Amino acid sequence: MGAEHAVIVGASHAAAQLGASLRQGGWEGKISIVGEEALPPYHRPPLSKAYLAGEKHSDEMLIRPAAFYARSGIDLVLGTRVTALDRANKVLTLHDGGTIPYTRLALATGARVRKLALPGHDLDGVFYLRDLDDVNRIRSYVGPGKSAVIVGGGYIGLETAASMRKLGMKVTVLEALPRVLQRVTAPEVSAFYSRVHSEEGVNIVTEAAVESLEGKDSVKAVKLADGTLLDADLVVIGVGVMPATELAEAAGLAVDNGIVVDEFARTSDPDIVAAGDCTNHHNPIYDRRLRLESVQNATDQAKTAANTLCGKLEAYHTLPWFWSDQYDLKLQIAGLSQGYDRVVLRGSSQSGRSFAAFYFRDGHLLAVDAINRPKEFMMARRALAAGQGADPARLADDTLEIQQAFL
Ligand SMILES: Cc1cc2nc3c(=O)[nH]c(=O)nc-3n(C[C@H](O)[C@H](O)[C@H](O)COP(=O)(O)OP(=O)(O)OC[C@H]3O[C@@H](n4cnc5c(N)ncnc54)[C@H](O)[C@@H]3O)c2cc1C
Repeated sequence: MGAEHAVIVGASHAAAQLGASLRQGGWEGKISIVGEEALPPYHRPPLSKAYLAGEKHSDEMLIRPAAFYARSGIDLVLGTRVTALDRANKVLTLHDGGTIPYTRLALATGARVRKLALPGHDLDGVFYLRDLDDVNRIRSYVGPGKSAVIVGGGYIGLETAASMRKLGMKVTVLEALPRVLQRVTAPEVSAFYSRVHSEEGVNIVTEAAVESLEGKDSVKAVKLADGTLLDADLVVIGVGVMPATELAEAAGLAVDNGIVVDEFARTSDPDIVAAGDCTNHHNPIYDRRLRLESVQNATDQAKTAANTLCGKLEAYHTLPWFWSDQYDLKLQIAGLSQGYDRVVLRGSSQSGRSFAAFYFRDGHLLAVDAINRPKEFMMARRALAAGQGADPARLADDTLEIQQAFL
């Protein structure tokens, strides 16, 4: 085993878990984590939340203290981009021309932001939000009374809006579709978030077609197709991500909206596993292939991948879950709502700040969006994982204990 070398490409949620799980699983060979960012693996979710709002220091962002890796015999090779993967010779090429040989490889390359080729996209003050560096740059532009325009009304756009309101900024969110969060939630949940953001002073514009970003050197305004001009000291674009699959693709691994992996996180090369945002995998609970963008998936799939490398084949079988924090709202999502034909609300989405939306298809519970409803989230998560049913009428009756709604 001494000559074995497990190399993990990418140094974020999936990589941190892979490294730790390899050691726990008895991997005795060398382990290296190679990542292009400068910092050891850090928590990405606070970037649009507490870190952007200035409530967290970068020291508090690390997933594990730097000493953990040294103690566990895991080499961190940071600030280093892997540019090529030679599967025949089992060697990686780095951006500086260096090479790293491996015996087993894990791809944890995650996702990258989708860019918009808008006129003015290269002006100063125009940002995407994925990495700590992005947010450090954004933070030098924020301040009370300044105007921010956020392009994209998904979770990251809305979280960014909430953080910037906390900082006393004027905030507009531009959403191209008829409602915010349209691709991921029911109309009731979208309407709830639009209402709360309006109550908090955010200007939400739906069906917005951005024509250009205006300014000489720095952005000064955002121009819409209908001629509207919105003042902007900064613009944050949050219109989704794409899996970082170029290494895998160039090396001839199967890629189809993510690196294709089996239930043991194996790619089409038996010596290479992959985990996290970069993968496309089969979910046995929903019986379909998925590419997920969540910490839960990155962490849990990394455990499966590490087990596989340690020779312990255990199929990846977990219920997806996710969260989003905006203002005093803690949204917890269990399951996947895509394909629902009925939504059952518990509590009011039209007033107050606490309710849950349960999604059904053909009478089967698919998912829950629980806003400031941790009990509903926990019960639904447990029921979904166990394949347990739920009674829509009881779910809707907020006077009943939530436990009574599950069959
Ligand atoms: C602002 C923000 C808020 C979020 N909020 C939430 C949330 O509330 N809840 C939730 O569940 N999820 C949230 N997410 C999603 C979550 O952060 C991701 O699902 C998670 O980070 C995925 O982890 P990963 O390890 O698969 O990949 P990533 O975190 O994308 O990391 C991949 C790493 O690999 C590196 N890399 C890529 N290619 C190479 C290469 N060739 N050589 C070297 N290094 C390479 C990249 O630089 C990157 O550091 C959020 C994401 C963002 C950006």
